[in-house]
Amino acid sequence: MAARFIDSLGVHSDMLQVAGHVKKATALIKDAIAIAEPFIADSNDLVEALADSFSDISLCLHMSGQYEDALAKSEKSVELGHRHTSPNHTWFASMLNMQCAPLVKAGRFADTVAAGEKAVSLCRTSTSEYLFAPVRLPLALECLSNCVAEAGDEDKALGIIQEAVNLYQDIQSKNTVPWAFVEDDHAYALVSLSARLAANGHLQDAFEHTLEAKSIYKLTITSGMLVSYLPLMTTLHLLSILFCAVGHHTEGAAAADDLVNKKCDLEVVHPELAMLVQVRLNNQNTRPSYLALRRKIPQCACDLNHLKDSCK
Ligand SMILES: [Zn+2]
Repeated sequence: MAARFIDSLGVHSDMLQVAGHVKKATALIKDAIAIAEPFIADSNDLVEALADSFSDISLCLHMSGQYEDALAKSEKSVELGHRHTSPNHTWFASMLNMQCAPLVKAGRFADTVAAGEKAVSLCRTSTSEYLFAPVRLPLALECLSNCVAEAGDEDKALGIIQEAVNLYQDIQSKNTVPWAFVEDDHAYALVSLSARLAANGHLQDAFEHTLEAKSIYKLTITSGMLVSYLPLMTTLHLLSILFCAVGHHTEGAAAADDLVNKKCDLEVVHPELAMLVQVRLNNQNTRPSYLALRRKIPQCACDLNHLKDSCK
């Protein structure tokens, strides 16, 4: 009973998070954790619910730029995941994946690759019949590709993300999972593929996938998934860099302007989401893979980083 109540709070916090109300979502999950923790020894279901809560709060904290706290919470979630006797190994893989981004932020590259590899291995051997289990492998591969890229092996990272994108195309063509639930994850993978292609010198190929992801995010935002503004903005930023790298400076500057205008609009209508966008951009623009990409691709005189203090 208690586990079901915690799960319900989790569903509510997910809805708040998707709408960009991360502070409220965080507060709600904190309440859920406070309620559940004293009774944790009583039930396996409660361990599962609590592990999910720690994973959810880790995501919210990471989105808000509270990286150390996000790592601590994801470690707690993995610790609980170990204690839980679940037949669904892909569930534990999702706990491990939540750890990857905070580990990157902490500079623990070997640990993040190890967590990413373990999650992929669990998904490859899973026999789970859970409806969304087929999505777990491409999700885990996308996460591993990011870990490997941040650790500096762009060539290996490209092969991994290509497999993830192929799997998404397979899911779409065979309709094994309702596509509306997978679309934004697919877009994420497309942007990762673009970044890896660009890092490996395939700038033209990188475009196509970035543009496709941009149109997917516009659709998911229209359908109410406001949190898609975050990846949309980082996609626009990548697009501006890619345009300039191949000499299309007018289009590069236009993509950067589009980003600034959208961010300024958000500051008026949804200030919390605008703040989260800035956190996401700051995070992306300080990642090792991004800094390496900027050093590698041709530079130009366009000011593509005019993201601050530019709203009128
Ligand atoms: Zn330019």
